Amino acid sequence: MQVDVLNAKELEKAAPVFGQLSFDNHEQVVFCNDKDTGLKAIIGIHNTVLGPALGGTRMWNYSSEWEALNDVLRLSRGMTFKSAITGLNLGGGKAVIIGDAKKDKTPELMRKFGEYVHSLGGRYITAEDVGMETSDMDTVREVTPYVSGISESKGGSGNPSPITAYGVYMGMKAAAKYKFGSDNLEGKSVMVQGIGHVGETLVDYLTKEGATVYISDINDERLEEVKNKYGAIIFNDTDVYSAEVDIYAPCALGATVNDQTIGRLKAKIIAGAANNQLADELVHGKLLQEKGIVYAPDFLINAGGIINVYAELEKYGKEEIMRKTENIYNTTLEILQTAEKNNMTTHFAALKIAQQRIDDRKKQNLK
Ligand code: NAD
Repeated sequence: MQVDVLNAKELEKAAPVFGQLSFDNHEQVVFCNDKDTGLKAIIGIHNTVLGPALGGTRMWNYSSEWEALNDVLRLSRGMTFKSAITGLNLGGGKAVIIGDAKKDKTPELMRKFGEYVHSLGGRYITAEDVGMETSDMDTVREVTPYVSGISESKGGSGNPSPITAYGVYMGMKAAAKYKFGSDNLEGKSVMVQGIGHVGETLVDYLTKEGATVYISDINDERLEEVKNKYGAIIFNDTDVYSAEVDIYAPCALGATVNDQTIGRLKAKIIAGAANNQLADELVHGKLLQEKGIVYAPDFLINAGGIINVYAELEKYGKEEIMRKTENIYNTTLEILQTAEKNNMTTHFAALKIAQQRIDDRKKQNLK
């Protein structure tokens, strides 16, 4: 078919990557397909100015390939800014595997995925994300060195989630200091949405500090388990967003701050682990600012995991990991104050600092 006979709709189809809503000058997008193992994956490399693109692999039952593509574009871009703001010499990348992690994941599929990662020669380094376990990274390691987050017994830094939770906790405390004048969370009410790998450890920190913790999850067994273990309260109402709590901690999936939820939010602070919490970072960031809700940028406070896997590459130990992650408190406070001073959204303030670091490095590299 010749381009000049395409109508507007068909042209839209003819720009499947560069024309996507979430496309933001990504350097490379790789589609991986393997008939034998059933692997259908997309690797997104957003930016490699600061270093190799590092970011986890998510396995999810996407309702369409478009949804998977948009997710990998959004997530990989987020990684660029996460590493940049955290001061790591890493670029931004991410991968998605289309499928049900409980049913479709096999060692063969993971090894095949690893081969695709390997074919990129280190431009992309993978790690775990939703639907992945440390043992899956061990499987990927069998075919490529370009993987992090492997088991401690195999020389890796292990499960990054507890460190991610610690960083979120630090970011939340900084937001509390900014909003309430004290970072003590005792007596504060927190809604933790999603009590998976990260959410559970966050609940642990919060309950230990004396916060009243509400938990919400689609998995009833987990709810019972976490309730019994930490004394958290299962949130039984259907509407998490309208809950009268001080802090909302999204720790499930992204885009929960959107047109449908934002008007209902009662929390004074949003601080959680989920990536891309704002469905539209411009629109919803601004609306939160207008409502006086303090938003601790997700890519800043959930960087503990990447700090942990970076240790594997840079060979630093647990002490340094904790020190770097604890520093999320200072960076968050600084960004909240900068945003206020310049009358900009907290998300934008964080992005601006991250982008500056990338631009500076690019200039240096050109010299
Ligand atoms: P996980 O898969 O272990 O946990 C997610 C939890 O959310 C599960 O318990 C799941 O049942 C629950 N959930 C799913 N949909 C839900 C819904 N609609 N309402 C309530 N609960 C729901 O994932 P994780 O590793 O804990 O990560 C959580 C989030 O943090 C993800 O968005 C992930 O991308 C992000 N994140 C994780 C890390 C990490 O180190 N694991 C690092 C950075 C960011």
